[in-house]
Amino acid sequence: MDLNFTLEARCPETEARLGRFRTTHNEVETPQFMPVGTVGSVKSLDPRDLTDLGATVILGNTYHLGIRPGVPTLEALGGMHTMAAWPRSILTDSGGFQILSLTNLRKITEEGVQFRNHIDGGLLDLTPELSLRIQAAIGSDIAMVLDHLAPSNSPRAVVEEAMGRTTRWALRSLAARTRPDQALFAIVQGGVDLELRQRHVEELCAHPFDGFAVGGLAVGESIPQMYETLAFTAPKLPVDKPRYLMGVGTPQDLVEGVARGIDLFDCVMPTRNARKGGLFVDGGRRKINLNNARFKDDRGPLDPTCTCYTCRTFSAGYLRHLLVAKELLVYRLLSIHNLHIYLELMRNLRAALREGRFAAFRREWWAGVPAKG
Ligand SMILES: [Zn+2]
Repeated sequence: MDLNFTLEARCPETEARLGRFRTTHNEVETPQFMPVGTVGSVKSLDPRDLTDLGATVILGNTYHLGIRPGVPTLEALGGMHTMAAWPRSILTDSGGFQILSLTNLRKITEEGVQFRNHIDGGLLDLTPELSLRIQAAIGSDIAMVLDHLAPSNSPRAVVEEAMGRTTRWALRSLAARTRPDQALFAIVQGGVDLELRQRHVEELCAHPFDGFAVGGLAVGESIPQMYETLAFTAPKLPVDKPRYLMGVGTPQDLVEGVARGIDLFDCVMPTRNARKGGLFVDGGRRKINLNNARFKDDRGPLDPTCTCYTCRTFSAGYLRHLLVAKELLVYRLLSIHNLHIYLELMRNLRAALREGRFAAFRREWWAGVPAKG
């Protein structure tokens, strides 16, 4: 499905761009961050929390949902929008990343990936076609092709082989589409080898995908290598299709990804860190550890610059007490805070782009980031 992506502004000094696209569920403004709802829920948050935070797209994981509850139950329950009561958009990954990170006994062939899942050890052959079948049962607005991800530090021949297979699997995915209401994004691989990246962009962009992701980053390369690869790759993607940087990253990565022409991001970082007391503050420029004893008797908010429900309502000392006591409420309150920081940063980046001051915003934002940490 064509998402009718429209560009509304471009930064004259960087590759940053402001745009919007439309799914059958809602309109999505870009640049945008997508909270991760791995097994069909953004951990500890309900749909009202997410709409209050201003989230417009959330992520579902094909690997997790395909293993449990599985396709028949997903279909019986009406897909993720219905079962999770989520009225806005959903993007699903293809399962490729979890196979490499979570499973053992994997065998990658031209047909697909054979692996034992991490729940009951059951054997599954994930093919590009099965990945799309699971994504159709989830009912996501945007599906991703199954890709073969090679770690960034792999030998060139390994990266090249994974890249070629990713193209063939992407074309099989195009042929296996069943839902006219679902967009399909291809994934550019090629590690940190710019020549391979160039070649893969050319291979994939010759086909009618509805958007393109830059994959194979944040998997072992250095931050400067990631930014360099992104600066090279993103501007070569079609100007009239959304560009998605998968699995990235820190607030710094969001600012720099946008500056290099990325429209969509997802990462477990804000929610996963929140549950451990790792909180982004000061517009995402710094991180604090709420476990630290210095917050014990702190009657002030955990972030005086933040306007989220948690910071407006509770003291840092009380939140620390809940965290130390592992009280359930704290996971929700801290997730609300961190996601607010991320989504507010994206709102600020969009406002800066709309008002033609993105480059100045970026400079000012970085000026407030501490030298280390
Ligand atoms: Zn807050």
